[in-house]
Amino acid sequence: MTKRRVVILGATGSIGESARKVARNLPDRMEIVGMSAHANSAGLAEAAAEFPRARTALSSEPDGAEQLIALATLPEADLVLVAIVGTAGLAPALAAIEAGKDIAVASKEILVLAGEIVMDAARRKGVRVLPIDSEHNAIFQCLEGRSSDNVRRLILTCSGGPFRKTPAADIARATPEMALKHPTWSMGRKITIDSATLFNKALEMIEARWLFGVGMDRIDVVIHPQSIIHSLVEFVDGSQLAQLSRSDMCFPIQYAVTYPDRVAGSLAPLDLAAVGRLEFEAPREDVFPALRLAREAGTTGGTLPAVLNAANEIAVAAFLDGRILFPRIWELVETTMQAHDVTAHPDLPSLLAADAWAREFAHARIA
Ligand code: NAD
Ligand code: MG
Repeated sequence: MTKRRVVILGATGSIGESARKVARNLPDRMEIVGMSAHANSAGLAEAAAEFPRARTALSSEPDGAEQLIALATLPEADLVLVAIVGTAGLAPALAAIEAGKDIAVASKEILVLAGEIVMDAARRKGVRVLPIDSEHNAIFQCLEGRSSDNVRRLILTCSGGPFRKTPAADIARATPEMALKHPTWSMGRKITIDSATLFNKALEMIEARWLFGVGMDRIDVVIHPQSIIHSLVEFVDGSQLAQLSRSDMCFPIQYAVTYPDRVAGSLAPLDLAAVGRLEFEAPREDVFPALRLAREAGTTGGTLPAVLNAANEIAVAAFLDGRILFPRIWELVETTMQAHDVTAHPDLPSLLAADAWAREFAHARIA
């Protein structure tokens, strides 16, 4: 039985909290050796009281970036769980890989920004990139190590968010309060808004492409309002495998920590008879342009996915601040993508430059 010694970057967030719950429930399998928070020092102190042996760091401090790297490369750690919202987790994730540690990635934004670089570095160092995002964790479970040659399509499920059935004219008037009411998952604010615009699924399409090495033309999305099937793999023979569980992020986190083992824990199983029905429908791509923009960014590649991600982060923050209306999130991302001069096969500095350019461009459009 292997006990994983885990660093949690973003330990005070929604994923961080679930990760601490997994550690609490599986003390023989998971020991937390490091935790970071950004500005929530009270939350970090509370977490440290429960896991007193863990080293802690506050990334909002002046030397926060170095502290995150120090945590990510702690000699006693063997798995670094990246649960920081946005792209601030990229540098520590790369540092962890270089230090020979496996990483478990919740922060999809870092794979959209630099998925090729992260996956190449992991391959070179012989370490694992374990997906925590529920859809990708589901696909990872369905694949069980099979190569993508056996795969015809990856099918990401999507709850549809709070505006799944809302007429387009009414979506235009959506307030942050309305958009923050997710029907099936309780998550941080940024990803909850992404779930309302479907940019969450857009980011996940690009995330899937790097994690599993398949082209964008083989990644599909189906709306599944109950969030019970977390995603599916269609193999070349036409068979589809799905992974099901209650919508609780402790499931994918536990699987990543105990992989390749499955361990009896305290997570209540699914009662399908109680769920009653599972529904599926095609996404309304005309109302939610995020999926089209993801396909365009992922197919063009180069610096374009980084630009999509950065413009979206700026737009979401502006929407939450009441500075822009909901549909402008899509509009800002699209105009920023259109204005961008794409660099093919970018290195890390070019990606970071594209990210910074997109943030500035989107800011200027809002102002
Ligand atoms: P959250 O807002 O609840 O928590 C974010 C965490 O990151 C906090 O610990 C915060 O202190 C830290 N943080 C914030 N800004 C930071 C910065 N600039 N530098 C360093 N640390 C910073 O977010 P969350 O919902 O837990 O999501 C975290 C990541 O996981 C996101 O990338 C999200 O897309 C992904 N994810 C979340 C869920 C979920 O159920 N919440 C599911 C799938 C994927
Ligand atoms: Mg997800």
